Amino acid sequence: MRGRNIVVVGAGPVGTVAALACARLGHRVTLLEAQDRIDDSPRASTTQPPTLEIIAELGLIDEYIRQGLVAKTFQFWDRPTRRLIAEFDFGRLQGETEYPYVVQTEQHKLANMCIERLRGVADVRMGVAVSGIEQDASVVMVKTSNGQFTADYVIGCDGGRSTVRKDLGIEFEGYTWPERFLVITTKFDFAGALGCCARNYMAGPEEWTNLFKVAGDDLKGRWRAVYNTREDESDEEALSDAAVRARLSRVYVPEKDRDYLHLNLYKVHQRVAKQFRKGRVFLCGDAAHVNNPIGGLGLNSGIHEAWDLARLLTEEKDLDRYERIRRPLNIEYVQEQTVANKKRLEERDPARREARFDEMRRMADDPVRHKAFLMRASLLESARDAIRN
Ligand SMILES: Cc1cc2nc3c(=O)[nH]c(=O)nc-3n(C[C@H](O)[C@H](O)[C@H](O)COP(=O)(O)OP(=O)(O)OC[C@H]3O[C@@H](n4cnc5c(N)ncnc54)[C@H](O)[C@@H]3O)c2cc1C
Repeated sequence: MRGRNIVVVGAGPVGTVAALACARLGHRVTLLEAQDRIDDSPRASTTQPPTLEIIAELGLIDEYIRQGLVAKTFQFWDRPTRRLIAEFDFGRLQGETEYPYVVQTEQHKLANMCIERLRGVADVRMGVAVSGIEQDASVVMVKTSNGQFTADYVIGCDGGRSTVRKDLGIEFEGYTWPERFLVITTKFDFAGALGCCARNYMAGPEEWTNLFKVAGDDLKGRWRAVYNTREDESDEEALSDAAVRARLSRVYVPEKDRDYLHLNLYKVHQRVAKQFRKGRVFLCGDAAHVNNPIGGLGLNSGIHEAWDLARLLTEEKDLDRYERIRRPLNIEYVQEQTVANKKRLEERDPARREARFDEMRRMADDPVRHKAFLMRASLLESARDAIRN
């Protein structure tokens, strides 16, 4: 095999996985990151079984699990009545994967682990922002704040606002939700107080809440409570101390425990790039698609893309396969499921809410449907489809 010159743009979790996968396959890799350090703001943490398989292939699984939390189940609740509706158990995926569970490890930890492994095997340049791309049939020119790089192939992993995607003139089709999502990070022990597990979806007709436990950098454990804002709520109001404490009170946090560590308010989109490839340049991760985070799917699918693309660039045949396979998989498994997950949480009609709850209970109680639901929700079905096609 002949190693190629590959420039990866963006050292988020997807770019660092793409860089490490390419370097391990014998390519000469340059990783360009605009910031001076890895972004460690609280973002994704849910790592699904097929992603754990990739992390294991990269030789990182033991450290990844050590730096995170293993979650075997997730629960669906009705928040206003504090009722547990259904529990789903990844143990049902035994035999389908070596990792029949989810690992909650914050995304910056994965990026940092990959950067560590890239030392000596790739050229990692922090503080170098890509400003434009030019290409002809045989080479790509990457223009940056620090000179120009040439490559056989470029992988654009530069996030939702991707300069690479914009510079290629690729449309980002889809829409932006009117409400924003607020993440409150707290040390309050929801599992102890509510009897919930480490991953919980709490439906509510006016406001829903998702509760996740993560390890934190100190590995002492903390919780992220994710809420929708009202459509007419300003950012200032949502971030105000009074509104944050009121939101915590609505998930049954006693007044004395309503201090919090961090707030994160962000816009949520459902968008897919019209093309995942233009000539010698490919888009991966949020540069190619963005979605609401309910169900923890977007970053996982980005990592699957990075992994598949690294192998495809090594075979160097039928490069169209990347877009032909990965784009429909994102639409079918990630966009459709995250929209359905959001609707399930926010249903307002009382009769339809109860009907949805009954449906969740029936699904959890039926072993065949329980497993089928998890195969989709974990992206295992999507990962196996990618191989079959
Ligand atoms: C505020 C926020 C909160 C989120 N919360 C959640 C959550 O709770 N749960 C969940 O599942 N998902 C969440 N997501 C989504 C999740 O974080 C993304 O799916 C994930 O970060 C995608 O990884 P990525 O590597 O594709 O892109 P990113 O993580 O965005 O990384 C892109 C990298 O490219 C760099 N870059 C950008 N432009 C350039 C350039 N011109 N040149 C060089 N480098 C460049 C950036 O600095 C960055 O390091 C959140 C996203 C955001 C924005």
